Amino acid sequence: MSPLSRIDVSLIEPDFRLRVELALQELSRSGVAFVATCGFRSAQEQDALYGSGRTTRGPIITHARAFESAHQFGLAIDVVRDIDDKPGVQPSWHAGDYLPLAMATKKFGLVWGGLWRFPDAPHIQDDRVLTSYQMAALKSAWLKSAGASTQEKLNVVWSAHREGKK
Ligand SMILES: [Zn+2]
Repeated sequence: MSPLSRIDVSLIEPDFRLRVELALQELSRSGVAFVATCGFRSAQEQDALYGSGRTTRGPIITHARAFESAHQFGLAIDVVRDIDDKPGVQPSWHAGDYLPLAMATKKFGLVWGGLWRFPDAPHIQDDRVLTSYQMAALKSAWLKSAGASTQEKLNVVWSAHREGKK
C-alpha cells in the first residue's frame, strides 16, 4: 500500500509528491512506517484550523492563516508514524518517533516541520514555499484564476512554482 493512499494525490504537486513518496518508501523499507493523513487544504479549512484556540474552543493547532501554509498550494503533506504491524494506522504522538523524518526528508530536498521554531513534527513540505515572498507569488497565481476548479487553480499555481525555480 502506498504511504500516500489516504490523501487525494491529484491535488499534490507531482514533483513534490514523488519526492515525499520516495522518502517514505525508503523509511518503510527500514521498518519505519509513515502514512500521509493530510495533503491539500483549502483556504477556508486553513482559517478554521487557525481559529482553533483563538476564536473557537480547542488547542492552538497552527500559526498559519489562509495562504500562509504550503497546504493551500498542494506543496505540503502531513504524516503520522504508524507504530505497529496491525491493520489500520496506529499513530504515535511521541516527537521522538518522528525524528527519522529529519534525514529522509533532507535527502530528497524536502523541508521537515519538526525543525521549526514552532515544531510541527508531522509536516513535510516543498523547500521553495518558505518565505512570504514565495508564498505571495503562489497566492496571486491562485487568486488570478478565480472561478476555476481547485484542480485548475492548482495547475496555475504549480506552473508559477516551476517558473520560480529557474
Ligand atoms: Zn502540515
